[in-house]
Order: sequence, then structure tokens, then C-alpha cells
Amino acid sequence: MQPHPTPPQAPATPAAVLHASGVTAGYGARTIVQHLDLQVHRGQIYALLGSNGAGKTTTLSLFLGFLAPTAGSVRVQGIDPVADPDGARRQLAYIPENVALYEHLSARENLAYLLDLAGQPEDAQAIGQALQAAGLDPAAHGRRVGGFSKGMRQKVAIALALARRVPALLLDEPTSGLDPQATAEFNRLLALLRAQGVAILMVTHDLLGAADVADRIGFIDAGRLVEEVAADSNGDSGGGERFDVRALHRRYAAQGAAA
Ligand code: ATP
Repeated sequence: MQPHPTPPQAPATPAAVLHASGVTAGYGARTIVQHLDLQVHRGQIYALLGSNGAGKTTTLSLFLGFLAPTAGSVRVQGIDPVADPDGARRQLAYIPENVALYEHLSARENLAYLLDLAGQPEDAQAIGQALQAAGLDPAAHGRRVGGFSKGMRQKVAIALALARRVPALLLDEPTSGLDPQATAEFNRLLALLRAQGVAILMVTHDLLGAADVADRIGFIDAGRLVEEVAADSNGDSGGGERFDVRALHRRYAAQGAAA
């Protein structure tokens, strides 16, 4: 008798780099995030939108291990940030709304120092290349960051993420306060990181900016993920756009008003 041919194996779905599953969490007795399911895969940009106090930054805190879920699980490249915060943070770069740098040090010195702290010292050439790739004007590499604009500070932070070659990037309202040109430049940098396979989770109020760059937009309302929309891969949500921004805006504004 002929042996049965082995049926072709379906390709395993790759695990998400950032994965929250049924997560409930809060501060003290107050529940902020409820039954949150969220996945960000390699080479994907996920924008999380929601009104003030909806739980966006709290969600980032969960991945950073600053906050432990009371139910459900959080994983960063399979690592539980509560059980192993250092291990999880080694997989992450986090860019807060206001990037904290050593003001009296130059961009180059900041990067060298921060890479040392991360246990990944790099030589001057690699540091220069990372700053260059992040789009920081070479004339600014040796300047003290004390006088840098928000956009320039973010470039230093992105250079750090590039040099660390982390699989995941968390961003908290990265484009608030940036002018349209700096926002467009920033979005180009995110696209560059995406092309390198980085999983990016960005918290923002900027629906237009999110629609430009994100592959998936999630709306969080009172701690619940109420809607997720994927970009139209054909760019066909109307007028050649990746998302139907008008429809999203109507729903986003309605949620904010209801909050
Ligand atoms: P915003 O758009 O205003 O930044 P957000 O969606 O990021 O809002 P969070 O910062 O996650 O919202 O806050 C959600 C709720 O949790 C808010 O009511 C906030 O006051 C509360 N909160 C945030 N951090 C703490 C904390 N460390 N201790 C107690 N409550 C907190």
C-alpha cells in the first residue's frame, strides 16, 4: 500500500512582536484598560487613537512592564514584561512625548552614552551613521542637544532605536507639536523602521498622520478597544487613500464626545 502523502502544512502564523491578550489593568482600585486584545506584528505600524484619559499611555506602560495586568497577558517578543522587565525592555525602544536627553551633551555623545547604558556600545562611525539615517543634519551631530527642537530630539531617539536594532518601538504622541513638514519627515522615518521589520505601536491624537503611515488603526474608548481598521492595501478607501479618513473622523469625534 502506498503511504499517504503528507498534507502540506499551513504556514504557521508568526507570533506578534507586541501582544496583549484579554488584558485588564488599572491603578489601585480603578480599572483603566479592560479586556484589551491588541497585536502588532513585525514590519507593522499600529496607531492607537482615543480621547484624553482613554487608556492609551496605560497600554504602553503595560508593554514596558510599568504596570501589571490584573487579568490577561502581555508579551514582548514572547517575554512577559512583569516577570522579566529588563528582558522585555531590551526588545523595545520607547519614545515618550518629550524625549529626555542629557542637555549638556551633544547628539553624538548622548547616543554613545545611551547605547553604553543599553549594554550595546558602538563606535563613532556607527553612531554617525545612525544619526544620519535618522535624518539629523550632520552639522547638529556635535552640538549640545540643549537647544534642539522637539523634532531634532526625536531624531536622536530614533537614531538610538536604529542603532539598538530592537524589534519593537513604542511611541507616545510623537507628532504632537511638530509642524506638518516635521511630521511628514517623522512618518518617513517610521516607514524606514517598518521596512526594517520593526513592530511599531504609536499612541496619537493625529488621525490624519496615523492614516498616512499606519497599517492598522485602533480606537480605544474608556479602556476598551472599540474598533480596529486595517489599511486598504490597494489604497482604495476612496480617492486612492489607504483609510477612509472622513468616516474614521466622524466615528473618532463621536467617541470623544461620548467620553
Ligand atoms: P491622554 O490622551 O490624555 O494622554 P491616555 O489615553 O493616554 O490620555 P492614560 O494616560 O492611559 O490616558 O490615562 C488613563 C487614566 O488613568 C486617566 O484617567 C489617568 O488620570 C489615569 N492615570 C494615568 N496614570 C496614572 C497613575 N500613575 N496613577 C493613577 N491614575 C493614573
